[in-house]
Amino acid sequence: MSSGKPQTERAAEWPPQPSGGANTPPDQQGPYRLYIDGRFCEPASGATLESINPTTGRQWYQFARGGSRDVDRAVQAAQKALESASWRHLSPVARSRVLRRIADATAELEGQLAVIETLDNGKVLREVRAQHDELASTWEYFAGWPDKHRGSVTPSATGTLSYVVPEPHGVIAAIVPWNSPLAITTSKLAPALAAGNTVIIKPSEQASASLLAFVEVLERAGVPPGVVNIVTGLGSEAGEALAAHPGVDFITFTGGTETGRRIAALAAARPVPTMLELGGRSPNIVFADADLDQAVEGVVTGAFAAAGQSCVAGSRCLIERGVYDEFVGRVVERVRRLRLGDPLQDDTDVGPLAFRRQMEKVLSYIEIGIDEGCRILVGGRRSTTEDLRDGFFIEPTVVDEVHNEMRIAREEIFGPVLVLLPFGNDADAIRLANDSPYGLAAGIWTRSLSRAHVVARALDAGTVWVNTYREMSDRVPFGGFKRSGYGKEGGEEVVRAYSRFKTVWVSLDEGSSADQADRAKEI
Ligand code: NAD
Repeated sequence: MSSGKPQTERAAEWPPQPSGGANTPPDQQGPYRLYIDGRFCEPASGATLESINPTTGRQWYQFARGGSRDVDRAVQAAQKALESASWRHLSPVARSRVLRRIADATAELEGQLAVIETLDNGKVLREVRAQHDELASTWEYFAGWPDKHRGSVTPSATGTLSYVVPEPHGVIAAIVPWNSPLAITTSKLAPALAAGNTVIIKPSEQASASLLAFVEVLERAGVPPGVVNIVTGLGSEAGEALAAHPGVDFITFTGGTETGRRIAALAAARPVPTMLELGGRSPNIVFADADLDQAVEGVVTGAFAAAGQSCVAGSRCLIERGVYDEFVGRVVERVRRLRLGDPLQDDTDVGPLAFRRQMEKVLSYIEIGIDEGCRILVGGRRSTTEDLRDGFFIEPTVVDEVHNEMRIAREEIFGPVLVLLPFGNDADAIRLANDSPYGLAAGIWTRSLSRAHVVARALDAGTVWVNTYREMSDRVPFGGFKRSGYGKEGGEEVVRAYSRFKTVWVSLDEGSSADQADRAKEI
């Protein structure tokens, strides 16, 4: 396993080149502020938080510690924008144009935004670039929706017309995690704006930089003030205040299952609707008839991309007994060849964990697995390589002698740890795969077309991949079952989810009011 010297000097590239407008962020050393009503501003408390570069373990920027007074200001700005001529009353075609301009500005800045995100959360730059390559096309896709987002007319009683029209919910709170800040926020922001809402983004306190840098995109695209606001800070302060705010009409959340429960409870108290994209513990199932070369690559990438800090990580690999020993040997050999190192370097396969607490959590799960009687086949430790020892690096880890009821198999670890379990037949594989509190995603590796379809239908997962893993597109619905949440992002479904539907009844009868009163009695 090789490593690369962390390229800390690249931090000088952050933030992206300012365009010179009044709203460009402060100088590179200054703390990033809140973005409310079209301008950067100080938090009411004046307090800041620091972000640590996980590759070096050192602070690399500061950002505002927003709280309830800042959330109040952001909600007021979003409400004002919602009713303004420049947003609510914009024609659908004009709203499409704004979204297309965001697509263009995103394409201009995506390279710089990717570097910022890698410095912030340690995700390998190649992976971030691949994700960011899709951002502009996501904006283009949703830019196509405003003038196609239709209501309906339903045949009803004679003499009346009833029709249904979509309207925006109003002010949407988008609370997002640290593992893919810009991609996850784009999946929420683009359809929410397409449907005519205004949005307040609450980034994770572990990775706020790429979202704050994204303000440059909003400014270049001429997004009206108050349509998109960003309140950084802690989940327990800014996050709670936003989720509980009476002026928020809908909450879209991606993050951990426990936080999702809390947010749903805060929303239920009003009540307002929520969309929850939560954790996972996804099975990747290898049948004996699979193309094993392809399956090894799919399983290793499925588990170790983003150093396993991915909601859809295929971190439970179920292997048919007939090929168990051979497949395990090949996986271990492949994992030994993964390069752990500086995420900015092109030849790095696996980067650091995003922050110290996450690294400690993953190491504690490895200990739990050892105590439960598992065997570590490769990895299992924090890296002691000289160049990496200040960062939050854990060696890619493969574990066997695992039973599905063990904590190491059931709980979300969110790190570079792959557990291996054998199975006997198709029914056994389905039972093991579904025996999980989560239901986000699953993979199947087989050459049998009928088996692929039968097993895909039997799996309790919101997304199933066959002979591939982690394919994603904002044109296609995505969302979990069971403790992985509810609601679908992507495709037409999400534009509808970010709308409320109003039914209008119109009497076509110009007859006497007595006739109308008779009809009313029929109800
Ligand atoms: P997290 O739940 O700790 O935090 C997510 C966001 O919620 C952050 O912005 C945080 O500040 C905020 N928050 C925390 N407590 C809050 C509270 N009480 N009220 C309001 N907001 C609060 O999650 P994380 O650690 O940032 O992200 C990792 C988790 O996200 C994993 O469980 C992962 O599976 C999940 N995830 C899911 C998907 C998906 O699409 N299903 C995608 C990516 C990540």
